[in-house]
Amino acid sequence: MLKTGVLYRYKDFLPITPQTPLFSLGEGDTPLVKCDQLAQEIGCGELYLKLEGCNPTGSFKDRGMVVAVAKALEEKSQAIMCASTGNTSASAAAYAAYCNLTAMIVVPEGKIALGKLAQAIVYGAEILTIEGNFDQALQIVRELTDKHPVTLVNSLNPHRIEGQKTASFEIIDILGDAPDYLFIPVGNAGNITAYWKGFKEYYELGKASKRPEMMGFQAEGAAPIVHGHPIEKPETVATAIRIGNPASWQQASAARDESGGLIDMVSDAEILAAQKLLATRAGVFGEPASAASLAGLVKLSRQGWDLAKKTIVCVITGTGLKDTDTALKDAPPFLQLPANVKEIEKALGWG
Ligand SMILES: *Cc1c(COP(=O)(O)O)cnc(C)c1O
Repeated sequence: MLKTGVLYRYKDFLPITPQTPLFSLGEGDTPLVKCDQLAQEIGCGELYLKLEGCNPTGSFKDRGMVVAVAKALEEKSQAIMCASTGNTSASAAAYAAYCNLTAMIVVPEGKIALGKLAQAIVYGAEILTIEGNFDQALQIVRELTDKHPVTLVNSLNPHRIEGQKTASFEIIDILGDAPDYLFIPVGNAGNITAYWKGFKEYYELGKASKRPEMMGFQAEGAAPIVHGHPIEKPETVATAIRIGNPASWQQASAARDESGGLIDMVSDAEILAAQKLLATRAGVFGEPASAASLAGLVKLSRQGWDLAKKTIVCVITGTGLKDTDTALKDAPPFLQLPANVKEIEKALGWG
C-alpha cells in the first residue's frame, strides 16, 4: 500500500478501524500557493491560495469521498448515491469505479457544467437528471437511500466532513499555524463545516496557536444563509453553489459565530471578475464557484477592512477546466493570420 492520500496520511484523525480499507486516487496534499502580486493589489499581508482543483477529479470533494467510500466498503455496501451540482458526482463516480461499486447520481437537468457531466459519464456512473434543482435532487436522494440498501455520499454523510477537514490540517502543517482568516465559498455548507472542524481539532491538539475567522461567501442569487431563509429558485453562474437550502446550514452558522467570522454574498459579476483576477494575477484557473472566496476578499477590502497585517487563505475549491463555457463567454476573439512571419510581426507591432 502506498503511504499517501487522505486515508493513510490522516488515519489517526479519521474514523478508521482495522477493517477500513486504505486506498487512494492521490487526493489531498494540494498546493498552498503564496501570491504576493494579489496580496499587494488587494492590500493584505500574506495571501495563500489552497488549490483544491489539484485533487484527482478536480475538486475538494475527493477528500471526503475517499473516506465515505472506504466506510461504505467497510460496511459491505455495493452502491453509493448522491445528488450533485457536478463535482460530487464526478468524485463519487471515480471512487466507485476504483472500488468496483455502483455509483448512482441525481443531477439537476441543464444546470451542471459539461466537464463534470463528462466525468460522471466516462467513469461509468448511472446518471439520472431531474427536472428540478439541487435541493430537490438531494431530497429525493435522501428518501431513496433511507429506503434502499444504498449509501448516501452527500455531505450529510459525516464521513465526507471528516475527510474534508484534512485540508485545514494541511494548511496548518505548511504555515506552521492557522491563518488569521479563511475565505471559502458556501453552497451546501459542508466544506465550511469541515474546515472549521479541522481547525478546531488541530488547535485543541496544540498544533496551532489560534483558529481563523471563517469567512464564507454565497452567490447573491443563492444566499439563503445571508438572508436567513431558504431560496426557492436559486440562480447563479457559479453552479457548484447554486443551492437554496444548505444541508449544513446550522453547522455553517456555528462555524461563523464560534470563529467570529461572517457569511456574506457576492454577485455573479464579482465572482467572474475574481475568476479572471485569479487567472491573470496568480496563474490559477478556478471554476466560478471557487472564485467566490477571492471575490469575498476583494469585496471586504473595498469596504475598507484593514487586512494589511493579516495572513489569509482563500480556498480555490475546484478547477476551471470543467466549465470552459462560462470562462470563455465574454472572451474577445483572437487574431487569425496567415502562416507568414511578416504578417505576424506586423500584428505584434514589430513590423
Ligand atoms: C461543492 C463545491 C462548493 C460548495 O461546497 P459546499 O460544501 O457545498 O458548501 C464550492 N466550490 C466547488 C468547486 C464545489 O465543488
